[in-house]
Amino acid sequence: MKYLKTFARLVVIAASLCSAWPVAADELMIYSARKQQFIQPLFDAYTRETGVEIDHQTGSIDSLLNRLKAEGDRTPADILIAVDAGNLWQAADQGLLQPIDSKLLRANIPANLRDPENRWFGLSLRARTIVYSTERVQPEQLSTYAALGEDHWKGRLLLRTSKKDYNQSLVAMMIAEYGLGGAEKIVRGWVKNLAQPPYDDDIQTMMAILEGQGDVAIVNSYYYGRLLRKDPDLKLALFWPNQNEPGSGVHVNVSGAGLTKFAKHPEAAIRFIEWLSTSGAQSLFADANLEYPVNPQVKPSPEVAAWGAFKASPFNLTKAGELQEAAIRLMDRAGYQ
Ligand code: FE
Repeated sequence: MKYLKTFARLVVIAASLCSAWPVAADELMIYSARKQQFIQPLFDAYTRETGVEIDHQTGSIDSLLNRLKAEGDRTPADILIAVDAGNLWQAADQGLLQPIDSKLLRANIPANLRDPENRWFGLSLRARTIVYSTERVQPEQLSTYAALGEDHWKGRLLLRTSKKDYNQSLVAMMIAEYGLGGAEKIVRGWVKNLAQPPYDDDIQTMMAILEGQGDVAIVNSYYYGRLLRKDPDLKLALFWPNQNEPGSGVHVNVSGAGLTKFAKHPEAAIRFIEWLSTSGAQSLFADANLEYPVNPQVKPSPEVAAWGAFKASPFNLTKAGELQEAAIRLMDRAGYQ
């Protein structure tokens, strides 16, 4: 009897301890188009810091969007992570995301890198910029994206396929900046100057410069970083275009996240997205893929900073989504394959 009483008391003490202890009551499910190796370190760090368990599924953005649509209110996904602003816009446009009213996110993320209706937030920034052969091109010969369509670059320009969302976003943002006619003129200039048919990816495009098939190209900054890591004597360099054009700048894009419409753990999901915008997580997020933090308080890694500072285009990235269809049609008309 005495033992039973003691046992009962212990149970009460244990129960009260449990409720006071920050138990891992929360868990999150994340659908991510960002590759496993670039997000796992963030999930691990967050779990260590908070006890929140994070499960995830990675896949192409199309497969994830289809899955969210098919699952509807039964989806286990709390958060969608995508690697292109146009894709984030699409997810919001298709009603798959819900707004987050967060002072912290609005303070940490510049307005042009997030949805004005707060349904998605950029979390890492990449520049889609000019890369050139340091053996055959002087940086003084370069100036703007548009100038790559001038005769000087005839038979010297290389591009990645127009099927890639990064290029669709680039052209969509050019429509926002120059209008449909202006953007089409630039893209027609590029097509006229192509040295080779477009490549499947940015790495192939840069390898082709190294093989002498062309002299300049447009790529995402982190792919250049990957090649540079393998070969510190790489005969390629990045150039930041449109720096002297008022109201213009380097085309940037984001990978980012949104809260799914039918999230089962909305509060926990918001806390995680907020955490991703804070300094330690921003470095982890950006540095994993040689990108730039979106939070202006956080510096890029020394490795990335070594490529030099640039002025980014100030246009809101929602344009990448709104004008994506127009961009695809424009590239088609211009013969950009
Ligand atoms: Fe990429």
